[in-house]
Amino acid sequence: MMANGDSPTYLNYVRGKWMRSHTGEVEASINPANGREVVGFVQNSALPDLDEAVQAAADAQKAWKRLAGSVRGDYLFKAAAILERRLDEVATAMTKEMGKTFAEAKGETARGIAILRYYAGEGMRPVGDVIPSTDSEALMFTTRVPLGVVGIITPWNFPVAIPLWKMAPALVYGNTVVIKPASETGVTCAKLIKCFEEAGFPPGVINMVTGSGSVIGRGIAEHPGIHGLSFTGSNAVGKTIGQAALARGAKYQLEMGGKNPVIVAADADLNLAVEATISGGLRSTGQKCTATSRVIVHQDVYEPFKQLLLDRIGQIKIGDGMMDDVWMGPCASERQHDTVLAYIRKGIEEGARLLCGGGHPQGRGYAEGYFIEPTIFENVTSDMTIAREEIFGPVLVLMKVESMEQAVQLANDVEFGLSASIFTSNIGAMLGFIQEIDAGLVRINAESAGVELQAPFGGMKHSSSHSREQGRAAIEFFTAVKTVFVKS
Ligand code: NAP
Ligand code: MG
Repeated sequence: MMANGDSPTYLNYVRGKWMRSHTGEVEASINPANGREVVGFVQNSALPDLDEAVQAAADAQKAWKRLAGSVRGDYLFKAAAILERRLDEVATAMTKEMGKTFAEAKGETARGIAILRYYAGEGMRPVGDVIPSTDSEALMFTTRVPLGVVGIITPWNFPVAIPLWKMAPALVYGNTVVIKPASETGVTCAKLIKCFEEAGFPPGVINMVTGSGSVIGRGIAEHPGIHGLSFTGSNAVGKTIGQAALARGAKYQLEMGGKNPVIVAADADLNLAVEATISGGLRSTGQKCTATSRVIVHQDVYEPFKQLLLDRIGQIKIGDGMMDDVWMGPCASERQHDTVLAYIRKGIEEGARLLCGGGHPQGRGYAEGYFIEPTIFENVTSDMTIAREEIFGPVLVLMKVESMEQAVQLANDVEFGLSASIFTSNIGAMLGFIQEIDAGLVRINAESAGVELQAPFGGMKHSSSHSREQGRAAIEFFTAVKTVFVKS
């Protein structure tokens, strides 16, 4: 870290050393609550920087994969303890870089620590099966080997949890890593890498190269020295990464967008449903891949639900996420802010009715930040852009239905299938929903945005490459199976 004016400059981390990019260029990381504040500068790297990182990871992999899993796990336990000591520092960087409230940032960092510990334990868990051979004198079993060098490309919305839920399993199963974080959150990632450095990981096992997606991200996707690619981000980028990986025979995993519905049945607990809609839809300013986006309400409870929702939304305090009383921070960047406003305009143009919000909040403290009011539309039909595309902002669309069948049919009428939730007290409706909904995460009487690190996570349809992350599912991606037949 070097001083550059008042804001520190963060370097790449390659072969155990903090390195400047060969380009000599840096990129500013901006605080979205105050667009004039530079949180830090990160390296704007080029392909020679990436090549060095991949070579370092390849060199380190030979010895790393030979260690016992428990020894690799011990390194993760150490990194967890260091991150725990630095929780406030890392969470502060997160809030300042991408705007989520400090409480949420601390919660995410705590989850990151739990992720490290969960995967540290994986170093001692079984990796294969013994399968009876038809030859009674033979032993047949499966074992697993690492992929080699893994490339990790991550978005800005969970700048601690997502890098960790990819890096931790990659490492414990014997891979080495090259990570490119989102440009918006390079500082937070550098602080995470610092924890790994202090934990004493051998040089080259973990490498970080910051830079633009079109250069370093694409470079990772196309690099012949990278054997596995794990990506979380938008569908548009994910598709190009999948194609590049497929073309050169690399393993890949894509976690992408959502357009997540909540269904409110006539027999729902309306207070619970409203709380979950607010929390699922608007926490992190609606910038979760699992955020509630479409609110599908039975006509019998539509009016009371709408009224409760509007009352509750009126109480939301928007502002700088570092302030104690703020519940919702800004959009993560100016680009994101402008995209969300463009979707709101599109909703109005296409004939939806704006119930509240719809713009940049007025008043002191908002002028320099990328804030948007919590926004609700009604009279929304399935063919409207705001009902089809991921907005990734504090925008909810209300849709009224006559029956549960119609509700599920509407819920499924999008190209995404990440998370879906229903509020009902009817067991038949719950079971029908579990069967019929196109979603990788099915949530009953709970908001769409809950994820537990020990359970598989991933989507159906265009939301993922049909792979799963987290929990024990991670072993499927980060290792290859060998079926072994032994005869003496
Ligand atoms: P994004 O634009 O797709 O960026 C994601 C990552 O890809 C960033 O590191 C980005 O680098 C990089 N990238 C950009 N262009 C690239 C290219 N041509 N080749 C390779 N890499 C490239 O997504 P985002 O705006 O950061 O994140 C929001 C999206 O992530 C949403 O769609 C959201 O639903 C999705 N998301 C999904 C999940 C999930 O688990 N399903 C979780 C969180 C977020 P730069 O930052 O330098 O552009
Ligand atoms: Mg920023």
